[in-house]
Amino acid sequence: MTGTAKAHAKGFTAEAKKHLGQHFLHDRGIIAMIVQAVDPQPGDRLVEIGPGQGAITFPLLDRHGELTVIEFDRDLIFPLTEGARAHGTLEVIHRDVLTVDFGALAHNGGPIRLVGNLPYNLSSPILFHALEHAPAIVDMHFMLQKEVVDRMAAGPGSKVYGRLGVMLQAYCQVTALFDVPPAAFRPPPKVDSAVVRLVPRAPESIGIDDHPRFARVVRDAFGQRRKTLRNALSQLCDAAAIEAAGLRPDARAEQIEVADFVRLANSLKQLPP
Ligand code: SAM
Repeated sequence: MTGTAKAHAKGFTAEAKKHLGQHFLHDRGIIAMIVQAVDPQPGDRLVEIGPGQGAITFPLLDRHGELTVIEFDRDLIFPLTEGARAHGTLEVIHRDVLTVDFGALAHNGGPIRLVGNLPYNLSSPILFHALEHAPAIVDMHFMLQKEVVDRMAAGPGSKVYGRLGVMLQAYCQVTALFDVPPAAFRPPPKVDSAVVRLVPRAPESIGIDDHPRFARVVRDAFGQRRKTLRNALSQLCDAAAIEAAGLRPDARAEQIEVADFVRLANSLKQLPP
């Protein structure tokens, strides 16, 4: 075993890699709150994204006995595998999570529950990658920048209600759970963090007829927040079409409920070429 590997196996911290968004959790209270929020039940298939040095991994293993993790940093694979022996059965997938097919993972043993203190530089791509595989996923518990969680969970009337919130809430139930201060991590990030729960909606309850059309309506509506719907959506429809969907053409996107965006997009039937 090399010196570095030995140090890892003992749980010593190698220098955190900035480009991999490494901020390792060390606050035991916060870790316990995450495990409690996940609340693993017998038979659950837990998959953790970015286990790092095992801060959440090992307590989850103690509680649940088995876990799959997806980690990109080669230097962490050995210490994770070694460290896990005392806690339970760990399957380590050494890959970029964005290349992992969650559908295939679920195919091999049932739908999965995702957990992760995500690398903040990749949080949006990881979220949208997970959403593409929503039928394979029971729920997700993610640590993200607090500012992102606030936008994800915001409703109409909030200053931070926008495209991210509408797109996520259309496909998932989104619940902001608790905030986490920078001091809970080593090294501390520059921003506050928060833990969010996402539960994908059943396909039949989403009600979106055409997903690209819905995405386009939401994108245009929030393109310039201060514009009225009539102006923001002028490339897609006229005021009469907005009224026909039961909305006021002089309303602004930030006042419109997610369900109303769905109804509007469905009522447009097709986008102009
Ligand atoms: N879970 C650990 C904790 O809470 O202390 C580490 C969290 S750290 C914020 C993010 C983790 O994601 C790091 O271990 C990093 O190496 C890993 N990571 C970064 N990019 C990744 C990627 N594309 N695929 C999988 N893991 C990645």
